[in-house]
Amino acid sequence: MSDYQWCHGPSCHKRRTTTRIRGVKGSKVLRTRKIPYNSHYENYYKPYKYFCDQSCMHDFIWTHLEEFVQLHPRPEALETPIHDPVKTTHINNYGYNWTTTEIKEVDNNSNP
Ligand SMILES: [Zn+2]
Repeated sequence: MSDYQWCHGPSCHKRRTTTRIRGVKGSKVLRTRKIPYNSHYENYYKPYKYFCDQSCMHDFIWTHLEEFVQLHPRPEALETPIHDPVKTTHINNYGYNWTTTEIKEVDNNSNP
């Protein structure tokens, strides 16, 4: 496994920042940023394993969105079983009330 990735942002190499300037005087380029491996990317910051920042991640998503959807089609709606919602009216001393609705998922391992 490589100890770094090149940022997957399709325009990373066109963004005008000093962190992308490489090359010798008279032959400078803006280069895709290199992302050093960091074990935190595996669990908590997974997108940053492949992208140098949010801008590059969003550029990639916008560029490849149709491919993602074709790779992972959603031909029908998904459903999560829930208990009957419980609506509660809260009353305070200042003349206004508000309601909350508790929505609990059905846990197959416990009783309602
Ligand atoms: Zn980038």
